[in-house]
Amino acid sequence: MSESLAFRGLINFIRDQYRSKDYIPLHAPSFHGREKEYVNETIESTFVSSVGAFVNRFEDDIAAYTKSPKAVATVNGTAALHTALLLAGVRAGDLVITQALTFVATCNAIAYCGAQPVFVDVDRRTLGLSPAAMEDWLDKNATVDNDGVCRTKCGERVIRACVPMHTFGHPCDLDGLNEICTQWGLSLVEDAAESLGSLYHERHTGTFGLFGTLSFNGNKIITTGGGGMILTGTEMGARAKHLTTTAKQPHPVAFVHDEVGYNYRLPNINAALGCAQLEQLEQLVSAKRSLAAKYTEFLRNSDLTFVAEPVGCRSNFWLNAVICGDESQRDSLLRATAAAGVMTRPVWQPMHLLPMFKECPRDDLTMTQWLAARIVNLPSSAPLDQKP
Ligand SMILES: *Cc1c(COP(=O)(O)O)cnc(C)c1O
Repeated sequence: MSESLAFRGLINFIRDQYRSKDYIPLHAPSFHGREKEYVNETIESTFVSSVGAFVNRFEDDIAAYTKSPKAVATVNGTAALHTALLLAGVRAGDLVITQALTFVATCNAIAYCGAQPVFVDVDRRTLGLSPAAMEDWLDKNATVDNDGVCRTKCGERVIRACVPMHTFGHPCDLDGLNEICTQWGLSLVEDAAESLGSLYHERHTGTFGLFGTLSFNGNKIITTGGGGMILTGTEMGARAKHLTTTAKQPHPVAFVHDEVGYNYRLPNINAALGCAQLEQLEQLVSAKRSLAAKYTEFLRNSDLTFVAEPVGCRSNFWLNAVICGDESQRDSLLRATAAAGVMTRPVWQPMHLLPMFKECPRDDLTMTQWLAARIVNLPSSAPLDQKP
């Protein structure tokens, strides 16, 4: 059977979901609310930049939606993660446990602190950091000293934090990870860039650790053009706000900055877009969940395995994914869909293979490599415009 024939059914099924004969992107943003109205308001008021009411409103709305005590807006998700890691105490020379199956921003943020990622394997069920693999690596390589700090057995390097990532919006095993972090004295920082709207045991992802971070890049479930958010407690929230706004002390006229701060604030014009987008988030999640249910049904008897949401979770199904039988089937699927004008994509190259992270400590990454050779993301835009 030719490649195009083998996947014709799937391609037709995808075209039916979007009722389109045009090119079908992997994930397009959707603007069906008050975006223009709010953005216009910032232009008419001239407050498009670093001052304006939409930033506070967006932070309050996200805090309320996620039930996080505090939310601090940033210029992008990478900046949010960088700030969170700094405030979690990650310093030059430290190690931070994370997964190799992630977008490069996770590891870049660790590197910005002068720290190094330690790559531990992921779980087949969640596609996120495996608590069993993490515990195994810690047992072999680490000890908790009398001062409560976790260090490597040989090199005496500090292992400060753990950054799991909720791949494609599917929540990791947060109870398992939390327990290990507590036991080993590590700070849990969730990279929840992909999982806005996803719940683990009815609680929002990004609210389980010391920090959680979100992204509002153009390809995420909602967008501010570019933007991010730090979810945390009240005290750390105040620290995060200070550090991301040039560490300026509140004063009516004088410029007094009390540490090296960052210009990581989200402009008001972007926050305006975010406020309008957030009003539609639940609708988007439910449209994406019903698309995922249709994929599940369609692929039930196929040789592609649809990635389902983990038990006990509500996934936002940011990106739908299938696991192919092998690498060659993956490549056929990628070629056939590309030829048919339907955008699909392999998963990121695992981080331990990138030149800047190839010397980082790592454990056995069998599942990471197995998945990396087989995952394909399928078109996942919320088919809102196509409602009859
Ligand atoms: C999108 C994303 C980020 C942050 O990206 P920005 O473009 O900086 O907002 C971080 N981690 C993961 C896993 C992501 O997918």
